[in-house]
Amino acid sequence: MEKIVILTGAGISAESGLGTFRDEGGLWSQHRIEDVATPEGFARNPELVQGFYNARRKGAARAAANPAHRALARLQAEFPGEVVLVTQNVDGLHEAGGARDVLHMHGVLAGALCAACGHRWTAPEEMRVGEPCPACAAPGGRPDVVWFGEMPYHMEEILGHLEAADLFAAIGTSGQVYPAAGFVREALAAGAHTVELNLEPSAVVSDFAETRFGPASETVPAWVEELLAEAG
Ligand SMILES: [Zn+2]
Repeated sequence: MEKIVILTGAGISAESGLGTFRDEGGLWSQHRIEDVATPEGFARNPELVQGFYNARRKGAARAAANPAHRALARLQAEFPGEVVLVTQNVDGLHEAGGARDVLHMHGVLAGALCAACGHRWTAPEEMRVGEPCPACAAPGGRPDVVWFGEMPYHMEEILGHLEAADLFAAIGTSGQVYPAAGFVREALAAGAHTVELNLEPSAVVSDFAETRFGPASETVPAWVEELLAEAG
């Protein structure tokens, strides 16, 4: 085995205290997705949207990487082949756990994006309505996160990796958000072995050849240990 492609979702960060996307009682459940995670919602009420992401940015800054994040960083460092890490998460916990070159397909909370010129910069902890762009001075600063109805980042690169994958793993993903939910089909078409590691079966669990259920902080380190033992 030479190339492993891993997709991670909110489930891997849940044990770091960050709410999953569809959980009860969390930040998400207090707002409608169309109000806080769409370009139309931002146009209607930028104050609500900036406030929502300011709260999420603060939460992510306080969170620490957990054993699942650290195990994937170890796999990247010690596996003799290539390990590509793709995440739907906008937190920086993979990097905090030591991972490199993470493909953030839904952007990052730590980033700001100019809606006028496309310039990117490091977001202040509190982004304001009309946040000025340091490049063009337009008052168009928004969180550099991909909203519903927008194209995820790095798609061409990710599909290229999936076409060459020997092993594809999805960790802590709901299987409800496309295109990520379709990655397992791409990997299967490429002849890869496929594994789902999750607290509960995802919406696309039947597409996977192998499944491992339990908290990510337990299943992921055990899986990484096995892969490294097989490779060693
Ligand atoms: Zn600009």
